Amino acid sequence: MADPVLLARLSAAALTDEGTRKRTGWVIAAVFSPLILVLALLCSLAAGGSSGNASIVELCFNGGELPPDAPAEYVATIEVMRSSFALLDEAIAAVNEQLEGGESLDALRVKAIFYVLYFGAEVHGDAQSFVDCFVSRVPQLVPVTDLEEIYRRTGVVTAEQQANAEAVYNLVRYGSAGGTGGSDAPFIGADGFCSPVGANWRNIVTSEFGYRKDPFTGQTKGHSGMDLAVPTGTSVRAALPGTVTISQYSSSYGYYVMIDHGGGLATLYAHNSKLLVSVGQTVNAGDVVSLSGSTGRSTGPHLHFEVRVNGERTDPRSYLP
Ligand SMILES: [Zn+2]
Repeated sequence: MADPVLLARLSAAALTDEGTRKRTGWVIAAVFSPLILVLALLCSLAAGGSSGNASIVELCFNGGELPPDAPAEYVATIEVMRSSFALLDEAIAAVNEQLEGGESLDALRVKAIFYVLYFGAEVHGDAQSFVDCFVSRVPQLVPVTDLEEIYRRTGVVTAEQQANAEAVYNLVRYGSAGGTGGSDAPFIGADGFCSPVGANWRNIVTSEFGYRKDPFTGQTKGHSGMDLAVPTGTSVRAALPGTVTISQYSSSYGYYVMIDHGGGLATLYAHNSKLLVSVGQTVNAGDVVSLSGSTGRSTGPHLHFEVRVNGERTDPRSYLP
């Protein structure tokens, strides 16, 4: 097996020359060692000083000055990854220009998967063909939202690599590798309504409710719930006591739960990674019904939360504590 550090050095040498970089692009060699990823995730550059605690992941994704006495092989590998990220950014920007309806690729998702597949490896190929794995033409250009479809297109990706990509994504986006993010305790308001993701919900709203019926066509448009950004694996809690009426997978909602609270009120929790309740089960406010995720039509880990009154979607903000 080839030495990944040596390959990183060779790759770094090739990338220093702009002309060489343009000609060779990325040569993808299957030399990735799980060991180097573990190092990349866990090993802080113990160089002392204020930058000493930056992880390699953060240095690759967020930039910043490399600690002066960082080991040369890390410096070379990080520089290769930064050069690759710059090329990916260009390719992503080119794709975003062609997307319609305000859609755009989740650049962090693209880079997290690239990082896990090619950190420490020598790569050929071009940024555009990697980024093309994240869009499809059907017939117009749209982002691919199904992670399994993305992994099928990027080539063989093991379950471990997928878990690593999720951890890297969560680490960069939320500052935590996931599974323990969000709130550990139910946050219940005076009227008994529980926030599905804890007291911090106001700070993590990434998309507001905005749903209306077109008075002319009768078609509904907009956003049927509220999106709350939480790392994959965060506990999702029932808003009120009730009975589970749906606990299943759908191509749009992913793994989702719906709870009937009586009196015409129902709540829905979508894009989970794991369902923890079954249909017919009764729950109390604050009970954990699922673990959040990014399944279905989702481009990153979040909870899509809906409140329905007599079947009509309404703004969850009016209810949250
Ligand atoms: Zn949503």
